[in-house]
Amino acid sequence: MTALRSGRNPTRGSRAVLLGCVAICMGLAAPRSAHAQAPPAAKPATVPTATPSATPSATPSATPAAKPIARPSTGVADASDASGTPTPVNPGEAAEEGVSPAPAVLPDPIRLLGGEVQAGTRAKLGWHASNEVAGLQVDTPVLVAHGVSPGPVLCLTSAIHGDELNGIEIVRRVYHSIDPETLSGTLIGVPVVNLVGFQRASRYLPDRRDLNRFFPGNPRGSLASRVAYSFFESVIRHCDYLVDLHTGSFHRTNLPQLRADLSDPRILAMTKGFGAIAVLHSNDRDRSLRSAAKRAGIAAVTIEAGEPMRLQPEEVEQGVRAIESLMDSLGMIARFHLWVDPQPVFYESIWVRTSGSGILLGSVEVGDRVEVGQTLGAVVDPVTNARDTLKSPVRGRVLGKALNQVVMPGFAAFRVGIEQRQQDLSVETTVGEGDTHDEDAYDPLQLEGIDPALEPEDVE
Ligand SMILES: [Zn+2]
Repeated sequence: MTALRSGRNPTRGSRAVLLGCVAICMGLAAPRSAHAQAPPAAKPATVPTATPSATPSATPSATPAAKPIARPSTGVADASDASGTPTPVNPGEAAEEGVSPAPAVLPDPIRLLGGEVQAGTRAKLGWHASNEVAGLQVDTPVLVAHGVSPGPVLCLTSAIHGDELNGIEIVRRVYHSIDPETLSGTLIGVPVVNLVGFQRASRYLPDRRDLNRFFPGNPRGSLASRVAYSFFESVIRHCDYLVDLHTGSFHRTNLPQLRADLSDPRILAMTKGFGAIAVLHSNDRDRSLRSAAKRAGIAAVTIEAGEPMRLQPEEVEQGVRAIESLMDSLGMIARFHLWVDPQPVFYESIWVRTSGSGILLGSVEVGDRVEVGQTLGAVVDPVTNARDTLKSPVRGRVLGKALNQVVMPGFAAFRVGIEQRQQDLSVETTVGEGDTHDEDAYDPLQLEGIDPALEPEDVE
């Protein structure tokens, strides 16, 4: 299997035909940027013509004065160099002997953040918001792998909330498992967007604002708004597809799941590429990265996986599988372990809240299926021994829950999703509104300076 996955795969051609068909049938083709052409059907010897270098249609650069990157500087690229295998640098450069020939003409370099990444290579670039104190600037790493065949630009972002760790590891595994010499399209990974929050193990920016409430940002706004603006303009605008990685917040955990606006046909099609991971419909939340990206024409979803402040191997593995499935369905890579289980989709969910105060003791786990009236947990009073049992009012599946902790009345303890049958799924499906999406009812415009304890539950 290793042999099949490495190098230029001889089976890639026939498989690519299938992938191309699947992608087109699912509406996944037609990316926006010059680098994001339709997934290659049957990667041929005659490859789509790449425009000569210095084309004005290249992906826009935040800093036009691109500085060339001589060679990839990180990770796997070094290993391939060490093996003596020359990495293609110039369009038309011949591939090594003994494997399928490289495309006759490679895609243009991708230019961003003042750098330029050649086809078939990877590079570590740096982003920093311009409003940081001079002399204290620390670049946030932006990892770019630019493939040898045309394809979409997929961006992976994590740790916008600096205490959410699972996504960091998901980005690392996905990014370093791909080979730019067999990649179609471009993968951009930002493992830690909120670097200062990450260093302080904090969800927030230093001014206690939540960065994910300020996109696409404003160059003359608050600190958070300026940081959001810089990141959005410098990195996000290069993306055709965006997966923003999160975990539950504040002592809550989530079943690995997508959050996506399923009323958008492009995003609905994108969600079907992730394999068997659960999908929860979620309306746009103004000023989250996902919402801002969608408004900018980028197909964007969030993955929620696990809880903050921990690295959880099982949740990480599910996230990796989901993103690899997406890359396969977009025609970027060829994967041989397809995740073909049914994909549970939830258009509605409810929060089961406590009515008493005391110690919350859960009796279900995320992912459990529950019936109407089934006990989810209880709140016990440590002094009086009173017990308030929490029961599910619906038949569904536990998508998220609070960890055992001391709670007050009204605390959102268990989120139960109401599964939609596959055959009922369509763009026209009525979308659940109102109290089922309590986080969406919150006005993010009011969040500036608000006490974090007053934030809604389980926000992205
Ligand atoms: Zn988050």
